[in-house]
Parts: sequence; C-alpha cells; structure tokens
Amino acid sequence: MIIKIILLISYILENVFDFVLVKLNDSYVKKPLPESVKDVYDEEKYNKWINYRNDTKKFSAIQTLVSAGVTLGLLIFNVHSLVFNFFTINRYVSYLIFILIFSLLGTIISIPFDYYQNFVIEEKYGFNKSSVKTFIIDIIKSFVIDFVLSIILLLGIMFLYEKLGNYGILLACVAVILFNLFMAIFSMTFLRIFNKFTPLEEGELRDELTKLCDKYNVKIKQIYVMDASKRTTRANAFCTGFSKKTISLDDNLVNNYSTDKIVAVFAHEFGHAKHKHNAKTVWFAFFRIIILILALGVILNFPQICEAFGFREVNYYFAFTILSMISWPLSRLFDLISNKISRTFEYQADAFAAKEGYGEPLVGALKQLSKDSLSNLNPHPFVVALEHSHPTLAQRIDAIRAKKPADSEAGAS
Ligand SMILES: [Zn+2]
Repeated sequence: MIIKIILLISYILENVFDFVLVKLNDSYVKKPLPESVKDVYDEEKYNKWINYRNDTKKFSAIQTLVSAGVTLGLLIFNVHSLVFNFFTINRYVSYLIFILIFSLLGTIISIPFDYYQNFVIEEKYGFNKSSVKTFIIDIIKSFVIDFVLSIILLLGIMFLYEKLGNYGILLACVAVILFNLFMAIFSMTFLRIFNKFTPLEEGELRDELTKLCDKYNVKIKQIYVMDASKRTTRANAFCTGFSKKTISLDDNLVNNYSTDKIVAVFAHEFGHAKHKHNAKTVWFAFFRIIILILALGVILNFPQICEAFGFREVNYYFAFTILSMISWPLSRLFDLISNKISRTFEYQADAFAAKEGYGEPLVGALKQLSKDSLSNLNPHPFVVALEHSHPTLAQRIDAIRAKKPADSEAGAS
C-alpha cells in the first residue's frame, strides 16, 4: 500500500510542478518586453498573442485535469492488472491485447482534445489548415506506428530480461540505442508517411542555397519542399543526414519568407553542422537512455512494485508506466542539462551565421518566425532553463548583434 501511495503522490507532484511552471510564465506576461523585440508585435498582434495564450492555457489546464483524473482512476482501482489478469490465454497474446487496449484508450481520450486544439483554437488564430480527413488519417497512422514500436520495444526488453536477467538489461541499453540510431537514419522515411516532399524547383533560392553549401563544403543529397501547409500556417526547416545532407524547407517558409532570410536560416543550420552539434548531442541522449533503462531494470527487480497495483508478477508494460511516474524529477534534470547544451549550440550556430555576414537577415527571419507563430517573447528564466531548447528571441538577437562579421568565434569547441 505504501508503495502505491508514494507512486501516486509522485504522479500528482509532477502535475503540480507543471502547473507552477505555467504560473511562473504568467508572472512575466505583464513585464515590459526586452528592447530588441519591442517591434515584433504591433498592438493588434500583441493582443492576439495574449488571447491565444489565454485560450491555450485554459485548454491545456482542462486537458491536464482530465488526463490526470483518468490516470489516477486507473491506478487507484488497479484497472491495468484487472484487464491483464482477465486475458490469461497466452502470455504474449495477453500482452498484445493489453497494450492494444491501453494504447487505444489513450488515443480515444486524446481525440476530442486534439480536435478542439486544431479546429477551434488553432483555427480561431488562423494557424489550422488541416481538414478533418487529414486529421483522422494522421491519428490512424500515428496509432499504428506507436503500437508497432511499443510492441517491438516491450517484447525485446521482455525477451532479454527473461533470458539473461540483469545482463539482459545491459543488452537492452545497447538495443534501444541501436533502435534510436535506426530511427534517426530512417527519419525521412517516417516523415514521408505523413508528408509529401518535392525537390525545390530551379531558381534564385535553389541557386543561393547551393552556393552556400559549396561555400561551407556541405554535401547535399537533395533540397526538398515539404507540404506543411496541408496542416498549418507555421513554418519550419531542417537539415538531416550524416555525410550527405538532406535539406527540407516547409512550403510556408518558401512561399512567405524572402530568399535572404531563408539563406540566413541555413547559414545557422550549417553552423550546427560545422560544430558537429548533432554528434555531440547524441552522446547525452544515449546517456539518458542508459540511465532510464537501468531504472527500469530496478523496477523489474522489485516485483512488489507491480504487485502493489494488483499484478501477480512483474508486468513489463506497466513497469514503463511506473518508470514515467517516478522518473520525472530525473527527466526534468536531464531536460535542464540537455536544454542548456542545446541553447549553447544555438548561440554557436547563430554566431557562425553572424560571423559569415548573415546576422541581420537571420534576425529578420527569427522575428518573422516568432511573429507568425505568436511566440512568447518574454518567458520566465526558470521555464527557459528547464523547457526551452533555444534561447529567447531577445537573447538571440542581442547575441547576434554583439557579434560583428569580422569577430573571431567565441565559445566554439
Ligand atoms: Zn539551431
């Protein structure tokens, strides 16, 4: 009983902590904006941002309450073990049915919230472009992918632990890392399940990007335009691949941003490539995976934890639920470290672009991106430290402008 109470309190504290973060950001809304971002919103846009923020905040508070209520209900009344013990046909079949039921339950609960988020809030502020058909197809595709990946992960860990005991857990660390590498290598394949990629047509933008790649010796596989406008008006771009890069630009970016701004965004991306940020980030991600799998190993070694929720033995799927309930302070600590690393890398990539003479167009692009997505220009420093992978807009602009094109690089490794 005491184990159950401790886990439930841990879960409640996690939700309270999230609520505190929202309140901290609230306390910064009324503060005057930093000088460098005062011109991003005009009065009309600023009011629109305030309204958007209030609507999103209310919505996510309700969503958190419902999801926490359902989760607590399931845990208090041992629903997981009741369902699992009901299907004792064959162990593997039981697991399949069990995962299917709880994955479906999670998806079904989230559908009305996702629908409201897309077709009411995002629609009201002009972000939503998705049709109901695309929305439904996305849900089905995501569900199938998540379900298949969960089964592979779970049965893999189960097999290794049952055959090799704690050595199996060490092997599971290696297996999960390889699995993550596989996902990274085939990330474009997964993205193609949801989006259409067409090669960027000949013209000024393609010429400028190719020139930039030649200048920094970045080998390009292809430059694509992604049909993001099928779902949203927000814009994004990314660069993926190891020796040869695949560049992808959202059509929203290509259609609404000037060439010099897009080129500046890529000068920033090549700054990441030059400093080998991807490879450096991967090591910390691996470390994080290893610690979490080892923590899972500890849970598997104490069947009393699963038994506290009505199971007759260790349940591998439920062990993951327990892991997420107790590991949140550790995850937050990892976030704190990984976001600090990420923000340092963002400054370095910005500095690279600024040094190469793309500073002002980059500032222009960042301002337009923030304005178009109604970003919070003045988040609380603690929330930034904990949750933001990028420095705030004001911090980035100040750092870029402090960096004159002829300056030598600072802080690069
Ligand atoms: Zn970046």
